[in-house]
Amino acid sequence: MFQHYRSEMPYSCSVCGFRSSFHKDAVDHFQEAHDRTDKLQCPRCLKTFSLFSNNQYNANVASSYVMHLQVSCRTSSSIGKA
Ligand SMILES: [Zn+2]
Ligand SMILES: [Zn+2]
Repeated sequence: MFQHYRSEMPYSCSVCGFRSSFHKDAVDHFQEAHDRTDKLQCPRCLKTFSLFSNNQYNANVASSYVMHLQVSCRTSSSIGKA
C-alpha cells in the first residue's frame, strides 16, 4: 500500500523549488539560501516577494510585503496573534 500524498511536503520555496515537510525548515532554508537577495518571504505563509522586477527596484513590493505581514496574511491565524 502506497501513501502518495502530494501534501507530504507542503512547505516550498517558490524561489528555488526547495520543499520540506516542516514549516520551520522552509523558513530556515529561505534565510540561509536567499538572505541578502532581492527576495522577501513571509515567515507565516511562505509567500515570496521580489523587490526587483525587470531589473528595477520596485518600492511597491516592499510596501506590499509589509501590508501582507500586517494585514493580508491570515493563513496562520492560529499561530500569529502577536
Ligand atoms: Zn529556496
Ligand atoms: Zn503571509
